[in-house]
Amino acid sequence: MNPRETIRVLLVEDDAGDAHLVKMKLGQTQSGRFDVTWTQSLNEAQRCLAASPFDVLLLDLSLPDSEGLATVRSAREMAMDIPIVVLSGRGDTDFALTALEAGAVDYMVKGDFGYDGLARVIRYSLLRAEMEARNNLLIAALDAAANGVVITDKAAIIIWANSAFGRLTGYSPEEAVGNNPNQLTKSGMQDAAFYQDMWANLMAGQHWRGELINKRKDGSLYHEELSIAPVKNGAGEITHFIGIKEDVTERKELEEQLQKLASTDPLTGLFNRRVFLERLEQERAKVARLPHYVAVLLMLDLDFFKRINDNYGHATGDAVLKAFAEITLNNSRAIDVPARLGGEEFAILLAGADKNDAMAMAERLREQVAAIVIDHELGPVQITVSIGAATLLADDRDGDAVLHRADSALYEAKDRGRNQTYWSCF
Ligand code: GH3
Ligand code: MG
Ligand code: MG
Repeated sequence: MNPRETIRVLLVEDDAGDAHLVKMKLGQTQSGRFDVTWTQSLNEAQRCLAASPFDVLLLDLSLPDSEGLATVRSAREMAMDIPIVVLSGRGDTDFALTALEAGAVDYMVKGDFGYDGLARVIRYSLLRAEMEARNNLLIAALDAAANGVVITDKAAIIIWANSAFGRLTGYSPEEAVGNNPNQLTKSGMQDAAFYQDMWANLMAGQHWRGELINKRKDGSLYHEELSIAPVKNGAGEITHFIGIKEDVTERKELEEQLQKLASTDPLTGLFNRRVFLERLEQERAKVARLPHYVAVLLMLDLDFFKRINDNYGHATGDAVLKAFAEITLNNSRAIDVPARLGGEEFAILLAGADKNDAMAMAERLREQVAAIVIDHELGPVQITVSIGAATLLADDRDGDAVLHRADSALYEAKDRGRNQTYWSCF
């Protein structure tokens, strides 16, 4: 609002004397120029509003065609965004207060206007209307944002949330208000220390940013990137927190897929050679470091596998490799590292396993592989596996040392007639 601009006032007042007083006051004031249009009823006011633009409406509540609060409500509807200042008669101040609730921005008691009082109230109401419009614009912008936005008080209770928050969490902004956002979407996937760290940062007045797994209203989980900023007042005290939430589930899933692609063999889903060698090195270092720690390496090679390809075709060969991998996976514990080193050569690193455990596992595997039957039009396809086993030794210099022992044992198993496990003598 430019202070030099003329302010266009629509005065709705049926009493000619009162109207004259208002016009006179606004004509004399030093604080701005006012252009007053006078009407005596709500009907007339409506015609004026339709015909030309006004900045403010001065409204008497008792008019020939409307009375009391209804006057404010009707005027509010007609005037849309134009601020309404109520002119009340003496003594009905309480009533004027309810008028504010009905949509007026301010009120003045007739005859009580000081020299510049009315002009000041009008200017203030225009300023308020401008600020309100700006506020509404900001809220609309926040509400249109793709990210969830949540505002809490200093006790972390939600006082406002946008529509994206609703889409993300399944809780409408109305449902969310009054709740603690962490409690609302807590999945149990983060421990207490996680939230303690978050709060320590925030209470120290710092911005916090992190990723967490949250739970929607329907119980489904999602990955969220959350950024929280404390809001401080002039005295530097925290009054609010603003949280920005982004659903990063797709990105997380993509990362997991890429991670999986980079670490597994596409045909069998077993770990690839690179991951296997890394884990073998870690396990070797552990055996060297910890006096009673044990681990075993199994090397596995399918017997006469070339014949399967030659007799039944490459696709059947692939099916055999997959069936073999499935058995390997089913027999492995979470800490084991079953891998395809290449072609039809496999290895399993049995972390923390001693010779007895390893032997039992190898035999179980060998028997289950021998029981595989794959249907083919030429007849059932069967396979066996030879296994070379070796213990990781504390003085192994590198992973190659144990790989070499297991490989020799495998050669021995082949040599002794295949479909058996041979334990390295060293
Ligand atoms: P042995 O009992 O001595 O191990 O005999 P083998 O026939 O199993 O051994 P050999 O090393 O001679 O043959 C391995 C065959 O595995 C040769 C190769 O074509 C086949 N092979 C390697 N990778 C794949 C694959 O991904 N799919 C299929 N179908 N065959 C493969
Ligand atoms: Mg083979
Ligand atoms: Mg081979």
